[in-house]
Amino acid sequence: MSLTEKDQQYLWHPYTQHKTAATPIAISKGEAALLWDENGKEFIDAIASWWVNPFGHSNRFIADAIYKQLTTLEHVLFGGFTHEPAVLLAEKLMEILPSNQQKIFFSDNGSTAVEVAIKVALQYFYNKGEKRTTIIAFENAFHGDTFAAMAASGISFYTQAFEGMFIDVVRIPLPTEGNEEASFSALRRHIKNHNVAGFIFEPLVQGAAGMVMYAPEALDELLKICRENKIITIADEVMTGFGKTGKNFACDYLKQQPDAVCLSKALTGGTIPMAITTFTQELFDGFYSEDINKALFHGHTFTANPTGCAAALASLELLQTEAMQENIIRVNKRHLEFRQRIQDHPRVAVTRVLGVIFALEIKIENQESYYGTMRNTLYDFFIENGVILRPVGNIVYILPPYIISDAQLEKVYQIVEQALEIV
Ligand SMILES: *Cc1c(COP(=O)(O)O)cnc(C)c1O
Repeated sequence: MSLTEKDQQYLWHPYTQHKTAATPIAISKGEAALLWDENGKEFIDAIASWWVNPFGHSNRFIADAIYKQLTTLEHVLFGGFTHEPAVLLAEKLMEILPSNQQKIFFSDNGSTAVEVAIKVALQYFYNKGEKRTTIIAFENAFHGDTFAAMAASGISFYTQAFEGMFIDVVRIPLPTEGNEEASFSALRRHIKNHNVAGFIFEPLVQGAAGMVMYAPEALDELLKICRENKIITIADEVMTGFGKTGKNFACDYLKQQPDAVCLSKALTGGTIPMAITTFTQELFDGFYSEDINKALFHGHTFTANPTGCAAALASLELLQTEAMQENIIRVNKRHLEFRQRIQDHPRVAVTRVLGVIFALEIKIENQESYYGTMRNTLYDFFIENGVILRPVGNIVYILPPYIISDAQLEKVYQIVEQALEIV
């Protein structure tokens, strides 16, 4: 039996309707921006494997750091114990996070990073004896698949089976160009009509919605309104963190600072599942008490796993090298050139670029007949041509590892151009 046949016998894949989905491709090796399947077919990983892999596959520098940590201290419980990799990582992160971020809480994935942030926001007011139980989130947001994260997410096919079972969330429109006032006034209205504890947002780019972008000035205004109303602001930087937007964090484009930041995905360079939620001193102090009941009773078995911390430390070191920063600038430049080349194509409706993120929307004439099949036609065409891209409906986005070569990037662009001719 081949690997794919055995897979079909035993495995249940994420976001997959197994009755209609194609069999998965068995990948046996990765190096830098490339992946190879079991038959030796080569792929360019143009989406950094769901945005986790900015430094390329099988990175030796991170691998060596992991090996060293594995043979020194692979794991120790974090309840009542601590260790150097966790402390060092917190120290290093604090140097680059928004300056008001003072405390670091570990978990395992983006959803739990969000879960922790939302629980902290809700319990902060509970501890103060103030009744604030509503969370505000954007329409079409994606914050993950655990329950509070799902509640905050606004993409209905992820969450519709669970409607009615969620914490209270109300939504505001994204302040895209021309929609700023609608977004600001919806926020003010919700603040008036609900007991709002927190506002969670993907800063500047909604990833899962199809790399939909909005301006820092608009987000600053929303954060200012929240600040005036003592609402806890939570930046979900799970996708945008660690250089994707051209700065370390999307929040670096802002004048306002969020009260909490969620990190995962690129945190360990795609090596070990880990997540972090960071908080202001003020939020931490809301739990600091003689009263045990005011503590944050949340934790995961693998909290602050030393191997994960070592991987994150190595990743941070790589991110901060001049060479990596130049790669980010180079990829951004290529994206802008590609945008020039393609934006007037008759099938292109919109293009968007921020940092290493490129997105284009393909014009669709007929929503009903077109939309459902276009995504799969595009996906299959890309795979056939050795490029891994996962369109969202009619949106094609590129988010490559920063170390992708110019030649590889050019191949990705050409395949996208060819795809416009077949849909
Ligand atoms: C991917 C993602 C999450 C969820 O992370 P998981 O590790 O998949 O649980 C949350 N928020 C954003 C913005 C994401 O892109």
